[in-house]
Amino acid sequence: MEVYKFGGASVKNADAVRNVADILNTQVHGSVCVIISAMGKTTNALEAVLDAFYHHRDNRDGLFKDLMASHIQILHDLFPKASHTVFSKVRTLFEELYGKLSGIDQFPYDQAYDRVVSYGERLSTCVVSAYLSEVGIYNNELDASKLLLTDGRFREGKIVWETTESRIREAVANSIDEQVQIVITQGFIACNEAGDTVTLGREGSDYSAAVFAYCLDAERITIWKDVPGVLNADPKYFHHTEKLDYISYLDATELAYYGASIIHPKTIKPLQNKHIPLNVRSFVDVEAPGTWVGLDNVPNSKIPSYIVKNNQILLSIYPKDFSFVDEHNLSEIFECFVKYGLKVNMMQNSALSFSVCLDGDKGNVPAVIETLSSRYDCRYNGNLKLVTIRHYTQEVIDRIVGDFQVMLEQRSRQAVQLVLKP
Ligand code: ASP
Ligand code: MG
Repeated sequence: MEVYKFGGASVKNADAVRNVADILNTQVHGSVCVIISAMGKTTNALEAVLDAFYHHRDNRDGLFKDLMASHIQILHDLFPKASHTVFSKVRTLFEELYGKLSGIDQFPYDQAYDRVVSYGERLSTCVVSAYLSEVGIYNNELDASKLLLTDGRFREGKIVWETTESRIREAVANSIDEQVQIVITQGFIACNEAGDTVTLGREGSDYSAAVFAYCLDAERITIWKDVPGVLNADPKYFHHTEKLDYISYLDATELAYYGASIIHPKTIKPLQNKHIPLNVRSFVDVEAPGTWVGLDNVPNSKIPSYIVKNNQILLSIYPKDFSFVDEHNLSEIFECFVKYGLKVNMMQNSALSFSVCLDGDKGNVPAVIETLSSRYDCRYNGNLKLVTIRHYTQEVIDRIVGDFQVMLEQRSRQAVQLVLKP
């Protein structure tokens, strides 16, 4: 059994869906479980629809209709006969969604989010499964929101592994036979004990695919992307990028954790735990080998990789009474971070100060400073960059630092992290 994951860009319009069918026709030998994201930018559109209905904005029906129209257009492009059953299936999904949107503000926001935004994946799998059947590719569609059980935290469900594993194994075994070798299911969505839909966090379909791969003991997992593989830097920020042919689970996790947007950071752990190799490949250039992610004992490329996180805040905290920054102070400070949901990207302490580099986009830093201010002096700098370089050399560091001022620096044997001020 293999697992394939197709992201939003790979199913964004009719041609893209045809390309998915081509890939399945030419690449699959044996059984495969296919995980699909919402089409194109549907998830963003659903977030806007939710926001409009939740807050009773004037344009709400217009936004809903636009989203429906874009899906119906793709159907017309894919299915010549408007009498095809997929039209009524997609309309039914939109009716169901509209029903949920009326009165959506009765639910707490995060629960409302999962009820609504999960429809992107339900729509895309419905369309793709029907199209595959139409062109003679036998497949069965599974409802991921009945298979992946989570602890119930909305918008960031944590998988309950044992139940999820037995449900997935049973459902997939029952869906595959001599004729049908392909199962199609949704990324991103799961459920809680009560049966409510829960999502796994933005871009969570990679993680869904890893969950399926783990539960099915897959031979390998392929994530099909619109780039040739994992690059050593984001082409948005760097002129010269290189594709990495092979990286270890460790490197892949570190890169993803510090913001390389290629793979969702949670994806690697389930794969590493069962030694399942991951291939990141291009759905445009299907013959190209892409990047393999796997164990360390294969010649590993030591090409430097760069990850840039913008909009960082450097917060420095000093005990007012000149006491040491010890375990007691630190635990008090961290309790406050947890309370306000701060994400710490880097930290350093000295006898009398503690400095942390934090994401600045959540707006929660002022509340933290306010809470700490009775016992600590807090100073901060905003608008900084956190650059992480794995497999660095001094020359590489000098080039990256250039004219920036280094506010904080940390080195291990593998990686250097620099907080830079323009
Ligand atoms: N559709 C969801 C999102 O865009 C999940 C995913 O694509 O991985 O965040
Ligand atoms: Mg997406």
